[in-house]
Formats: sequence, C-alpha cells, structure tokens
Amino acid sequence: MIFKNLSRLNEIGANCYLVDTGTFKIVLDSGLHPKQEGAEALPAHDELEYDSVDAIILTHSHLDHTGTIPVLMKNQPRAKLYLTPPTAALADALLHNSVNVMQSKREELGILEYPLYGHRELDTLQERWEHLDYNCRLKLADDVHITFYNAGHVLGSCGVLVEANDHRLFYTGDIQFTDQCLIKGAEFPTQGVDTLVVETTRGAAPRRADYTRPQEEEAFCEAIKSALQKGGSVLVPVFAMGKTQEVLAMIHRFKSEGKLPEKTPVFIGGLSTKMTLIFDDFGDTMYRSDEDFHIIEDMGLKISSKKKKRKPIVYQKQAIFALSSGMMTEKTVSNQFARTFINNPKNSLLFVGYADPLSPGGILKEAEQGDRITLDPNENDVLFDCTRENFDFSGHSTRDEIFEYIEKLSPKTAFLVHGDLDASQWFSDKIKDTLPATTPIIPAPRKDYPLQ
Ligand SMILES: [Zn+2]
Ligand SMILES: [Zn+2]
Repeated sequence: MIFKNLSRLNEIGANCYLVDTGTFKIVLDSGLHPKQEGAEALPAHDELEYDSVDAIILTHSHLDHTGTIPVLMKNQPRAKLYLTPPTAALADALLHNSVNVMQSKREELGILEYPLYGHRELDTLQERWEHLDYNCRLKLADDVHITFYNAGHVLGSCGVLVEANDHRLFYTGDIQFTDQCLIKGAEFPTQGVDTLVVETTRGAAPRRADYTRPQEEEAFCEAIKSALQKGGSVLVPVFAMGKTQEVLAMIHRFKSEGKLPEKTPVFIGGLSTKMTLIFDDFGDTMYRSDEDFHIIEDMGLKISSKKKKRKPIVYQKQAIFALSSGMMTEKTVSNQFARTFINNPKNSLLFVGYADPLSPGGILKEAEQGDRITLDPNENDVLFDCTRENFDFSGHSTRDEIFEYIEKLSPKTAFLVHGDLDASQWFSDKIKDTLPATTPIIPAPRKDYPLQ
C-alpha cells in the first residue's frame, strides 16, 4: 500500500491524498486552495492518470476539502464519491455557490480557467455520489473496506478508516473532539490503526491555559449584553456554513436561559440562510447535540423567499447581526455592513473564529480604536471606533487534544497534514520525544510512502 500527499505544499491549502493498495486507488478529499486562483488552486491531480482512480472519499464540505471534487470526478469517470448525507447536502450548495463565485472572478479578474465546472455538470456528477452513514463498514472491493466516524468538526464531517491488505489506515479529516452546541465531538477509533493521517491545524498556536468552552460562551454572552445595554448592536462575522449556525444556537440558548432579552432581533443573510435551512433539514438526525432544535423556526428568523430579490441588511440598534464572510472579505455582506457599523462607539464587533491576518477581518481583529481601516481598497477608509473582542470557538481541536489522541491510538506511522510546516513540526517533535512506537512523517508532496 502506498500513501501520497497530493496537496501542492505542506500547508492548509488544497487538501488531497492518495491511498493505493496496488489494485485499488482511493483519493481522500480534493480541495480548492483558499488563497490561490486558477490552476494554482488545484491539488496535484496531474499525479493521477485519467480514469485510474476507483473511489473518492470526502470527509466534509469545507472548500479546502471539497472545492475541486467535480474536477477530479470529470477526470476519473468510473470513481464514485463516498460521503455522509449532510456533507452531500452542504457540498451541493457550496459547490453551486462556488460556480457563481468563479464566474464573477472570471469576469472581474480575467481568470480564464474559471469556472472549473458548471451548474449542470455538477448535477450530472452527483449521480455518482454515494451516501454512507457513520459507523457502517462498506466493502468497496475484495479486501477493501471503508468506515466513516464522526469527526465533530462541522455537520456531517467524518474521519475515514480504510482497511486493505491487512493494513488499517485512518484519515482524520478536520477534527473537533469537544462537543459544540450543534455537533457532538469526534468519536474516533481508539485502537487497531497502523497508519494515521492527522490534521495539525493548531500545532503552532497553543490555546491559553485557562480556556474552557463554558467560560468562553459566558464571556461572549456578556459582550453581546453590554453592547445591547449601551443601545448599540453586535456584528459577528461568521462563515456561512457551520459557524453561523453554531453562533445562532448559542444565542438561542442565551435567550432561553434569560441571559439575553428574548426579543433581540437576529439577522443572517445570503448563503447563510440556505446553509441554515440544510442544518435544519438534518435537525432530527443523530448528528446534533440537541435533537429537537430547529434554528429558523425556533428562533423566529425571517428568511426571504427565493423568488423575491433579497433585501440588503439594514442596521438597527439593539440587534445581533451574524453575517458572512468570517474573514470580512471584500464584497461580502459582513464587509459591506461594517462600513457603517464599526465607526459607531456604541456597537461591538465580535470575532468567533480564525481570520487570515491579511484579510479585513484579520486586520480588524488586531486593530486599535481610532485606527483607520481599509475594508475595501476601492473605497474610502473607515474609522474604527467600536468595541471589539475576539473569542475562540474554533472547529478544530487544540494541539494537545489531538496529541492525546495520537498517544492513545499509538499508530506505527503518523502522517502530519493540514497545517503549516511549523504546526506539523510541533507534532513531529512531540511524537519523536515521547512516543517511540510511532514514526512521524510530514509527507512531501507527490512522494510515494510505502506503508508497512
Ligand atoms: Zn474543515
Ligand atoms: Zn480543512
């Protein structure tokens, strides 16, 4: 059996990995690089001959894992795609949205490769999507089986166990071991794995020692309350899928516990609405911590009908705006809304997750009151005069939690992926220092690693 990293660099980019049993080729994830454009944004698909792949597995719907699945499927016409039912629903919506984004980039930036696939093509490719639930062992070929395990990262996310030739390889995808409001924490195999392929996102970013999730939620609630009491409003920049729904679920809980005024209006917009409807479709499934909660209905959120043109989101005082994108990228709802929001000292800007340091969100996360901020290089700067606080509700486990898992599992080999080099290196050093039975490898792109 051979393992090969098909991501172009050791980083969180276009995730893609190959497992070759000798007679059966499986590709794990096929992402789109979040910061590159055109051909540079694709994984090293050129390592895969046309029609040579037998099966493709998708761990979850985030675009750094999903974004080039349609491109891969076009070049691998007999491969089926295996994924959980919620991942299928979310990936369908995100990939169709991605076609629209690529179309506008083609027009605005002249990227002629875009769109990499079209709406109709996407629908046709879905005939080869095969749903698989957690904890169900599926035979793909003689002596090749796969099983999905809940990864706790976003709705539908899984880690996958590949069993072939008496070898057991477990690929974690992105992991969160701690329960979130909507999603239960990861439930991974704890023994019998020879090769582990594990994410290392937070390897270079230790969390403060006194952090607890309940305290962080309390502080977030207090921050909202204090802005409302001043007569201001709250803007929470969030990713449309996952973080939006998690923030909504928290706000709902604060309200039902009497910590926030019941009548405080909550606004979401654009793609977030579509994504939230999908979360509610899966509200009755086993994947959520609170099985009876339906976000749109139970929170009384008003959503615009598809036929009517969506109204722009208008500021009002003493309200909560959970708007995408999380990094406040130019031309997104949160970026445009911020223009008339961050200059009001009564308001509060509350971050709940990661933002690239160079993105408008990343700049605002570090900004001081009184700074002038470039939200969009094509528009005037804006005075930053509101309160700002940063919270940690990451969908990724801390490095210590993931290391603990590696220690418990004690695989022969641990491939360290989905992290910048310094992040993967932290895991490598720690394994070398303390786990003599495990060999850590930061897999060089395009290189064959035989598995024993
Ligand atoms: Zn992810
Ligand atoms: Zn990821």
